[in-house]
Formats: sequence, C-alpha cells, structure tokens
Amino acid sequence: VAAPEKHQLRHYRHPELNDQIEKVLDSLKITDDQLEQIMHLLEEEMNAGLSPLTHHQAIVKMFPTYVRNIPNGTEIGQVLALDLGGTNFRVLLIDLRGNSRIELTSKIFLIPQSVMIGDGKRLFRHLAECLHEFMQKERILNTGVCYPIGFTFSFPCQQEGLASARLTAWTKGFDCSGVVNEDVVKLLQDAIDEKRINAKCVALINDTVGTLMACAYKDPSTAIGLILGTGTNACYIENLDKVGTWKGDYNEPKQVIINMEWGAFGDNGRLNLIRTKYDEEVDLSSMNPGKQIFEKMISGMYMGEIVRLIILDLLQQELLFLGHRDTYGDYKTPLYNRGGFYTKFVSTVEIDEGIQFSNTRRVLEDIGIRNPTYDDCAIVRHICRQVSKRAAKLAAAGLAVLINRIGKSNITVGVDGSLYRYHPRFKHNMERCMETLINKSIQFKLTLSDDGSGKGAAMVACLADDSLCKKSVVHNE
Ligand code: BGC
Ligand code: MG
Repeated sequence: VAAPEKHQLRHYRHPELNDQIEKVLDSLKITDDQLEQIMHLLEEEMNAGLSPLTHHQAIVKMFPTYVRNIPNGTEIGQVLALDLGGTNFRVLLIDLRGNSRIELTSKIFLIPQSVMIGDGKRLFRHLAECLHEFMQKERILNTGVCYPIGFTFSFPCQQEGLASARLTAWTKGFDCSGVVNEDVVKLLQDAIDEKRINAKCVALINDTVGTLMACAYKDPSTAIGLILGTGTNACYIENLDKVGTWKGDYNEPKQVIINMEWGAFGDNGRLNLIRTKYDEEVDLSSMNPGKQIFEKMISGMYMGEIVRLIILDLLQQELLFLGHRDTYGDYKTPLYNRGGFYTKFVSTVEIDEGIQFSNTRRVLEDIGIRNPTYDDCAIVRHICRQVSKRAAKLAAAGLAVLINRIGKSNITVGVDGSLYRYHPRFKHNMERCMETLINKSIQFKLTLSDDGSGKGAAMVACLADDSLCKKSVVHNE
C-alpha cells in the first residue's frame, strides 16, 4: 500500500488560497480507477495495432521492428551510430569488444531550427556532413574500410526490414518536407553516397529499441525499452504468435521487438476523460495538433508548457504573483510567451524539499518575478509536482500494461531520456504507482540505460552485419 500523499506545504501563509488553488489543479488528478481504465484502453489499442484487420486504422501502431536477436555482451565489431530525434544529433564510433566491454567516442551536432522544418534533402545532407566531419576527426575517413552504420531515428516508421523504414509522421517539432512515406534509410544512404563517404547504413532503429538493447547487453531480464525525453515511447519483446501483422520469417527466436509508438495513444479521443483545458491548449498551439496526445501529457517537450499555462491561469485569477504587477497592471515576464517556462525548470523547482525554496526563487527570478513570496514559491512548486506526477502516473500505467502482459517473474525496463534523467522524483513517482498496478508475482526494475540509443544502434548494426562484424551468439530466452 502506497504511503499517503504528503500534504504539508499546501498550507500556504494565506490558507484561503488552499481551496482556490486545489480547484484549479483538481483537473490534473487521476484516480486509481481512471488509471485502470486507461490501462484497459491501452491494451485494446495495442491489440488493434497488432491485428492485420485493424492495424490500418489503429492509433497505437505497434510497429514490428525486425530486431529479434537480443545482444548478450559477446558481440565484437567497430560500428558507427547516428542518433537523431531528441534534443541533439549525435554521431558515435562504437567499439564492441566482447565481454560486455564497449568503448565509444561521440560528438554532438546541432540541428538548426531552419533545418528541422526545412527541405528533407537538406536535413539528410546535413547529417552526412556531420558524419563526414566526425570521421575526419577520428581519422577513419579514407581507410578503405566500409563502416556499418546503425541509425537511431526516433520517429514513427513502418519497417519492411532492418534497413528499410518509411516515416509515417514527424513528431517533436520536426517537419521536413518530402520525407513522410519515404524510406529514411535510402534518404540517408543517398546523402552519404553523394559525399563519397565509405559507410553503409545496415539498420534503422527507434531510440526505445536502442535503449532496450543496451540494457539487455548487461541484464538479460530486460524486456522493455522506455524513453522519457523530448518525446515518449516504449518498445518491448513480443512473441511472434501475438503479432498478426508480422511479415517476416518464423525462425527462432520466435519473438520481435515491437515499437509501440505509444505517444499517439488518445489521438482518437480515448483519453478525453482525463484531458484538461491546458492539455488542449498545448495541443492546439503545437506543430501537430490532434496528434501525440499521450506524449503531450507526459514528455519534456510539453511539460513546461503545461505548467506555464496553469501559472498564467492563476495569474489571471489573481491567485499568484500579486506583488508583481507594474503600475499598468502588467507583468514583464516570458510567462506570457509560448515556451516561456522550460521543462528543466520543473526539475529545478522540484529539487526544493523544504521551505527555503532556493531553486524555485532562482527560477522565478530568471523569468522576471523578483522577490516572490513564500506562497508564490509554494504554489509554483505544487503546480510542478502535480503536472510531473500526473506524467509519471501515465507512464507507469503504460509500463504496467506491458509488464503484466509479458508476465515473467523478473522484468527489467531500460529507460533513457532527459526527463527521466534530470527530474528528481520521476522514477520514484513511477515506481510507487507501478507497485499498485502490477501483478504482485512480478518483480520489476527500472534501469537507466546510459547512452542506449547510440550503443543499441551499434549492437543492432553488429548483429545485422555478419560480414563487417564477427557473428555473435544468439541469446534466446
Ligand atoms: C516518437 C518516437 C520516439 C519518442 C521518444 C516520439 O515522438 O514518435 O518514435 O521513440 O518520441 O524519442
Ligand atoms: Mg535520445
């Protein structure tokens, strides 16, 4: 049984605030019954995505990834990895040494906003240029060796093989023309060939898959990969007999990793019972309105924005920052602008435990609220806690569905992403919620999968390419 929620510090210096604040934040609460209902809905959507009769209309796409072998640490090879789809673009050179040893060098490149929403050809040319620069620096450019590339491309893709993946939609603020419905591996390879780089993309994977693989490399109980970063998504190992849409062979191992694309859960209205007016506003002002509804309630790209809208609502109801209006009754603060409250502020604010509010004060001063009162700080922290706790609960419910479905006695979830990494309570809040939702006979564990999307791509490339990497032993549970 979970401990009762702590209610200290809801008691503001002006106690009459309590009820008014709670009234605003009430819409963020999700009851245990609602969570169970959400789990049930998600499982229905998963089955629709996996069935050939309903896959076409399904919202949660459950894409088979063609990744079937899980690494076990014995893989040997030198592989390049490209990682696109989070905050940064990264190029990595990864040396799999066997005996679970990995050596790695990497470089981060920026993708300018103009490239993120520009011509697709330009995006892939930019990736190839970064690759070129990196290989030059690492002195592996004209060595006569053709390097295999594992490409972590963290967007929804319909795959027809490991090295064939059609983008179904952009997410997370990307919107390049001429890429949707195209084979992303081909677009990348064309750009690489154009620059006469001696490298071949042998596998495209989702970041969740990389995270699962990198975690499985060290822990054979790993069955799920989870990303809680700019976006959110999960993948898991499914039995082939449950994957009606499977078009590949039925050789051993009779399993395949399914990229759920759970961020789209709710795009057909099924989460409306818990959506708030803040969620609707975040969605409407996004680059993909109506899409990625679950993602928009959870992930880092949107969390700060939800908090901002709630703060603004309280401002307008004259419940917050009363001492800060100027003589015209205006505030000079980025809180009025979209994106004016960063998700990293939510993490910073929640580091404050007591009543000093040193972090919260710093954040508020950063956004032009000088000398905030005790109540201002307590209320802002309360908002952050409620928004991040709701996100943690939703992610927990999603994981609980997967864990109960897999049903093994020991299950490890490999997790990565900036939100999970930097938020001081996200993991704890998820675990507390998962304990109430997961069958008591199952032991689960959340493990931070360091650098998973890069390392995992290297592992998949290595498993895929026998000619370039030594063949590894297939691990089959
Ligand atoms: C994408 C997924 C990705 C997730 C986490 C989502 O927006 O659709 O493919 O795994 O973000 O990066
Ligand atoms: Mg990433």
